[in-house]
Amino acid sequence: MIKEKLNIIKVGGAIVEDETSLEGLLMSFSSLKGKKILVHGGGKIATQVASKLGIETQMIDGRRITSAPMLKVVTMVYGGLVNKDIVARLQALGENAIGLTGADMNLIMSVKRPVDPVNFGYVGDVKFVNVRSLKSLLEAGAVPVLAPLTHDKEGTMLNTNADTIASSVAKALSGEYSVTLTFCSSTPGVLKDVNDPTTLVSKISKADFRAMVSDGSISEGMIPKLQNAFEAINAGVSKVVITSAGNLEGGTTILADPETDD
Ligand code: ADP
Repeated sequence: MIKEKLNIIKVGGAIVEDETSLEGLLMSFSSLKGKKILVHGGGKIATQVASKLGIETQMIDGRRITSAPMLKVVTMVYGGLVNKDIVARLQALGENAIGLTGADMNLIMSVKRPVDPVNFGYVGDVKFVNVRSLKSLLEAGAVPVLAPLTHDKEGTMLNTNADTIASSVAKALSGEYSVTLTFCSSTPGVLKDVNDPTTLVSKISKADFRAMVSDGSISEGMIPKLQNAFEAINAGVSKVVITSAGNLEGGTTILADPETDD
């Protein structure tokens, strides 16, 4: 059976914050034919809103801690302002967008991350993706726009990494569709030299990734992004790409691990 195509585009926080990049990305997204899902990151708007409300942003090793008051802010900002702004813009472009968190239709359930070794607060690790409900939305012609929020099905929202949401949804839907997963970031893709956009790596294997992490040429946010990308390609997603918002057709293609005969 030939599976129908599904495009899942993940757009990073830096693009969401930049008016010109966001508009360009949404135009490219709306020109994609067929079934599609947009997953968006949060960006710094939550930090700005929190500070206006007198809520301090706590960080450990450069990573945000989601305290109880911060969880309220990210729910308002990611699930409200950012998500609905994108939905309204997509509607203006003729897309039948519907903005959702993981709690809506129980789309994505997660468990609160253990407090040991680092207590990140109200952060969720994805445990379940509701394929049937997502499929029903896609089959009805809707374009789901997913905020980086999940729930524990016990009444609590959890802040969840948007790359992880995108790769979890892509993996879960790969049984039903031929999925292309595209991570749109502020770089043209994986670079040999992070400061030189002309050093784009067109294809990357797990072995290349390990070598580039060891020699320091891949660091920071690109490490978990690539881990999510390799997990997706090795779990049945048809194509995984890391690229910039302005170039959905280019970027770095993720290579699946070679098959072994053991
Ligand atoms: P997002 O845009 O999804 O929030 P991140 O900021 O988490 O993405 O990850 C992308 C960042 O990773 C880039 O902006 C860059 O600073 C960093 N990075 C580290 N190593 C590399 C590399 N080799 N190639 C490209 N980006 C890299």
